[in-house]
Amino acid sequence: MMMQRGLFISTLLFASLALNTFADSLKCDRCGRVIGGKYVEYKIDGTTIVVCLQCNKTLPHCNACKLPFHKNQLINQKGELLCQTCVADSKFCALCNHRIEGRYYKLENSPELYCARCYMATPKCAVCKKPTQRRDLDPASGACLECLKKLPRCGACGKAIVGSFFRFKHTDEVYCSDCNRTRHKCYVCGIPVGNRYWKFPDGRTICNQCNEQVVIDEQQIRRIMTEVEELVSRHLGIKAEIPYTLQITPLNNHSVTVAKAAKKGENSASPLFGSELGLFRRLNGHAEIFLLYGLPAPMLYETAAHEYAHAWQAEQCPAEQSAELREGFAQWVAAEILRIKGYTEFLEKLEERNDHPYGTGYKRFKAIHQNLGRIQLIEYAKKAVR
Ligand SMILES: [Zn+2]
Ligand SMILES: [Zn+2]
Ligand SMILES: [Zn+2]
Ligand SMILES: [Zn+2]
Ligand SMILES: [Zn+2]
Ligand SMILES: [Zn+2]
Ligand SMILES: [Zn+2]
Repeated sequence: MMMQRGLFISTLLFASLALNTFADSLKCDRCGRVIGGKYVEYKIDGTTIVVCLQCNKTLPHCNACKLPFHKNQLINQKGELLCQTCVADSKFCALCNHRIEGRYYKLENSPELYCARCYMATPKCAVCKKPTQRRDLDPASGACLECLKKLPRCGACGKAIVGSFFRFKHTDEVYCSDCNRTRHKCYVCGIPVGNRYWKFPDGRTICNQCNEQVVIDEQQIRRIMTEVEELVSRHLGIKAEIPYTLQITPLNNHSVTVAKAAKKGENSASPLFGSELGLFRRLNGHAEIFLLYGLPAPMLYETAAHEYAHAWQAEQCPAEQSAELREGFAQWVAAEILRIKGYTEFLEKLEERNDHPYGTGYKRFKAIHQNLGRIQLIEYAKKAVR
């Protein structure tokens, strides 16, 4: 913002105004008559203008420079009589439309000027800082209508965002800090949900978009599991021989201890808790795969493949195999299924992970796959311990 000092024209001119007496054949610049007695002399920009007392008294004066003019030489400009020069030189306030005398305000990159009174009394746009009437400011963001058009809008509440915003992977939408802090996040995509969302009986919040893709039909989930078994055995050459039971379960929304006990078979609550999407367990020689209902199909394929890999490991791999090898191989199987099914977005998410043991383990197997090929990779997965 820039503040400039304007020309105080009227003061300047009064200072050079002088009342003179007698001059030889001096003529009035207005009526043209020879001046006999007293007269008034105006000095403007180095020029002297002489006016007889009669003209000075009877002619209208320019409101800005105070010089007398013939009536037809003055222009009515926004309620003021001004001479042509003053009309050209005057500055007008963009808010009250009045001619500015003295200080004025100007913003960078804008030709508009503001008188001091308006500038002080008018609220400013939170973005461009332009003085704007309150009725023309967006109450939520404090932005003027022009800035409002250019501001990003929150993907959850729809309000214009001034200042910092939040971004999430795999979406172009941005989110305001209020929504990021206070709104439920979608269980599937992790993005703050909008005003309409879904709440599953097990407490999960699902955004509208994800909800369109989720599979809740048990038969459909079972068909996906069967398809995964076929794909894994046909494309990757691994097969779990011992039959297992497939359980389609909700999330355990009680506590992590209940889920832990369920994993050991100590109670019948769902062993899935928090962000777990599936589980393989073998209790007393009986194998079970748990899959969470209400996931989008690609996540079901991914989870089913991961848990099926664990079922195969339980039959083929050393019991003392490290978590990084177990989870890394299961992630590799899941990644191959996502690739075969063409679920690139979910494959990208899987490949982006750097967490231990899933992300780090996957990267190990990916490198082995690239260097030695699939057959060698499976041999490695069968024998390696850490
Ligand atoms: Zn005169
Ligand atoms: Zn004037
Ligand atoms: Zn003004
Ligand atoms: Zn603005
Ligand atoms: Zn918001
Ligand atoms: Zn979602
Ligand atoms: Zn696992």
